[in-house]
Formats: sequence, C-alpha cells, structure tokens
Amino acid sequence: MDKKVHELLNNQINKEFYSAYLYLEFSNYFKAKGLDGFANWYMIQAQEERDHALLFYQYLQNNNMPVTLGAIDSPDREFADNMAVLQAGLAHEEYVTSLIHDIYAAAYEVKDFRAMQFLDWFVKEQGEEETNANDLITKLELFGSDPKSLYMLNQELGTRVYTAPSLVL
Ligand code: MG
Repeated sequence: MDKKVHELLNNQINKEFYSAYLYLEFSNYFKAKGLDGFANWYMIQAQEERDHALLFYQYLQNNNMPVTLGAIDSPDREFADNMAVLQAGLAHEEYVTSLIHDIYAAAYEVKDFRAMQFLDWFVKEQGEEETNANDLITKLELFGSDPKSLYMLNQELGTRVYTAPSLVL
C-alpha cells in the first residue's frame, strides 16, 4: 500500500474515535439538560463513529498493514446553547467529509482501486451524515423555541435505535 494512503487511513481511525468522543460529549450535554431524546440520538451517533473507526482498523489489518493508535483529543465542552451543539456537529461532519475526500484523492492518485472501493461507502455515508445534521438544525430552528414542540422533537429523537453499519469487511 502507498505510504500516504496508509498514513491517511491510519489517521482516520483516530479521527473517527474522536468523532465518537465528540458525540458522547454532545450526549452528555443534552443528558444534563434533561433532553434524553437528544442524548439518545447522539449516543447512537457515537456508536456509529466507533464502528467507522473499527472499519478503518479492520481494513488495514485485512491488507496486512500496521495499525498505530494515537491519543484521542478531548472534545470541546463549552456550548452557548442547544443550537451551538448541533452546529458544531454539522461543522464536524463537513470536516470529516473533507478528510474522506482527501484519502480518496490520495488513493485515486496511486490507482489504489481497493481503497477507493472501500472508501465509496464512506463517501455516501458522509452525505447522509451531513443531511442528518442539517435536518436536525432545521427542526430545532422550527421547534426549539416552543417548549411543547421541543418536548415532541425530543420524543422523536428518543426513538432512534442503533443499527450496525451496512458495510461488512
Ligand atoms: Mg464517521
């Protein structure tokens, strides 16, 4: 495997675990506010990010490449309000999309077709992540200022259930 592709894939393990950490912090924030549905939504988001990390980990192992695990940064803890949390989530997903695209570009450059095929799933997944983050912002804009509506939105987010990723290595 190309050195740069390997390095970027390995770094992505850390980035995905950081994402899990960030969403655990979001879940923690909403739990403390009594918004259990939002806390549930971000807890499941954190589980998905852990799954993403493990997919990169497994992909390297399956290709006989070494895995190096680095320290995971602590996430930001200060949020002005509920909306600031959701906006931080969208900004983070846009950043992760750029990282996935960077790995894809590196793989494309050296004609690493196997890595490109692996990354195809993540390219699509990032589109969904950004859509979800945007939709949540729209809902909070519409319903966040009215306690009854916020209660119902919280109920809706509480119904989200974890499903394992559709990508199997
Ligand atoms: Mg991810």
